[in-house]
Amino acid sequence: MSKVHKQPEPKAATINNMAELLAHALALEIEAAERYADLAEVMEAHNNMHVSNLFSKMSEIEDLHAEHIRKLIEDHGLQPLANVEYQWSSPEGPETIDPGDLHYLMTPNQTLNLALFNEKRAFEFFDDLARNATDDETKKLAQELAEEEEEHVAWVEKWLEDYPDTDPDWDYDSDPPIVQD
Ligand code: ZN
Repeated sequence: MSKVHKQPEPKAATINNMAELLAHALALEIEAAERYADLAEVMEAHNNMHVSNLFSKMSEIEDLHAEHIRKLIEDHGLQPLANVEYQWSSPEGPETIDPGDLHYLMTPNQTLNLALFNEKRAFEFFDDLARNATDDETKKLAQELAEEEEEHVAWVEKWLEDYPDTDPDWDYDSDPPIVQD
């Protein structure tokens, strides 16, 4: 007879040391900075400088966070872990809007929703870590990072109020770009 162990699955999101937390945080901030820079470009192509500027600002903020995390890694005398990756995803799965391949006709509403979705993910990521960490220093930093992401969620929600709807014909282009072979 096989024994059935009723042990709970180990939580993937349990991180109890600063090195791991900082490595994940760094990957997350770098990814966010890059995606915001991409979104800023998409909006610039739309001549929507208002949203483009918001995304540029976000890219800078996430860049500063990445810098801050790099400094913490240094201050703790830690080696950056090379194998940690973090990627943005889209609300309805990778098929809809691949964040790595943004559609040039995406509307402000769509780009802001993509940002909102990923800011919420980032918040949940750090919030989970904060809840699960038993190491005090790790818990405290995870909490701080969660609070920062929560603030980003609030900003993006605010901006979305100005762009409530998506035109159902958003990907119709009366003058499509010429693709050369
Ligand atoms: Zn953020």
